[in-house]
Amino acid sequence: MNVPDQQVPPGAFTASVAGEEDPGAAVDAVSPAAPMHPGDEAPPGTPGSGEALCHACGGTGRSEDGTTCLECDGTGRITAGIGGG
Ligand SMILES: [Zn+2]
Repeated sequence: MNVPDQQVPPGAFTASVAGEEDPGAAVDAVSPAAPMHPGDEAPPGTPGSGEALCHACGGTGRSEDGTTCLECDGTGRITAGIGGG
């Protein structure tokens, strides 16, 4: 008797895994694949650097004229050096 294996639709596992991620641990973690922004002072993951409020928009993600901040690409945060000066 041949019983065909039940096929799991693509994405089923992906969705499950993503939903089980620890939300607290992922919030402030710098993703290895995080793209750089024009205002970043260092690539994500660089030792001695970390996320900081965008100096151009103050963390709002918008320029003074209401357009998307080009320094942080609207995220309001950039990767900046820590402990430097
Ligand atoms: Zn900005």
